Amino acid sequence: MNISFDNTENAFAYKSDKELKGAKFLFSTMGFSWFVQIGTRLTPFIMKTGLPVHGLIRKTIFKQFVGGETLEETAAVGETLGKYGVQVILDYGVEGKEGEDNYDKATDQFIRVVNYAATQTNIPFISIKITGLARFGLLQTLDEAPRLRSGIHDHEEEVAEWDRVRERMYTICEVASEKNIGVLIDAEESWIQDPVDRLSMEMMEIFNKEKVIVYNTIQLYRHDRLHFLRISHQIAKQQGFKLGMKLVRGAYMEKERERAYDKGYKSPIQPDKAATDHDYDESVTYCIENINDISVIVASHNDESNLLAARLLDEKGLPHNHPHVHFSQLYGMSDNITFNLAKEGLNVSKYLPFGPIRDVIPYLMRRAQENSSVSGQTGRELSLIKKELARRKS
Ligand SMILES: Cc1cc2nc3c(=O)[nH]c(=O)nc-3n(C[C@H](O)[C@H](O)[C@H](O)COP(=O)(O)OP(=O)(O)OC[C@H]3O[C@@H](n4cnc5c(N)ncnc54)[C@H](O)[C@@H]3O)c2cc1C
Repeated sequence: MNISFDNTENAFAYKSDKELKGAKFLFSTMGFSWFVQIGTRLTPFIMKTGLPVHGLIRKTIFKQFVGGETLEETAAVGETLGKYGVQVILDYGVEGKEGEDNYDKATDQFIRVVNYAATQTNIPFISIKITGLARFGLLQTLDEAPRLRSGIHDHEEEVAEWDRVRERMYTICEVASEKNIGVLIDAEESWIQDPVDRLSMEMMEIFNKEKVIVYNTIQLYRHDRLHFLRISHQIAKQQGFKLGMKLVRGAYMEKERERAYDKGYKSPIQPDKAATDHDYDESVTYCIENINDISVIVASHNDESNLLAARLLDEKGLPHNHPHVHFSQLYGMSDNITFNLAKEGLNVSKYLPFGPIRDVIPYLMRRAQENSSVSGQTGRELSLIKKELARRKS
């Protein structure tokens, strides 16, 4: 395998000069961290005031990172990606919308997304945040009282509430299983993760008997997750189901550290980046070494981790398009990785969120923050875009 992530011609073939210039402007702006800090604080507030900022957001950050406001709008992006051998993970962006009605509506919407994915040739997965189907406070209660898990049976309302969450997930996974569409369950804040993990395992036990439909996610910026991966694998073997695992480094590092500091408990985050990288790559290796039992999604923008997974496939004599190994990057980022992996025939997708602008604001704010940190992605993205613009000019 001879992959180079430096090939910007492949990376940006799907973008016109005008689109590339727009992306250059956006990433240059996100390089000013003071601007992003102010922007990420003010935007949710401004959105609520009803000031006419939709148009501006839509033409800039939304266009870069989101497929569209509706499934129909998003279809065009999916088709374009498909022309380059790039698949799609559809992510219906509901975050922070509480209330039983909203959870039921979200369930219907996820089912609609599954049904739509089943009609397309390049949409093998959808992704789900459990906080789109369950009250954050309920998840936190379940997480905080692991010893009382049976104890919450004393609170009938909460038991019934949790059962409704389980039913929603069951309904979605059942349709997904019928239609052969994978369901990726996102990892969120560590203080709600335990019930999310348990629900993921419960669904895997039901739906992953023959093939992998349900995937949990582990964040390797947590120091306990490599161990958790091994334990999950043991449980899957004992219970006779196949493990689906999406590997990410993690998107809530600052928030995690701040909370641990404020509340005076040991931070769940690794001591440094090198430790995160180490556990990430160990997890990639572990999954590929156990490829008969585990289906893995290498969800990362890190060159080395992606190259490692690709190299391991070659070393083990496995085909590039092995159905148990899939790569994914967020839409709007790391096209150099996605499109060059696709050229080599590896299974690779863009994680493509869609939804009304107001609903995807939290997602957009995370992307802005991720792309504004000095050590982060901005420099990489900007230099690749500049390189490609210069190449086209010459
Ligand atoms: C397809 C896809 C799905 C995703 N799903 C989820 C999800 O379900 N849940 C979620 O939380 N995130 C998710 N993410 C976001 C992901 O966590 C971030 O994009 C990711 O953290 C960026 O890391 P990277 O692997 O691209 O590599 P890099 O850019 O090499 O790593 C940056 C990351 O390393 C970690 N890090 C940085 N500095 C330190 C430090 N000092 N100490 C310890 N760790 C450090 C942080 O996690 C930081 O984000 C997803 C990403 C993709 C591509």
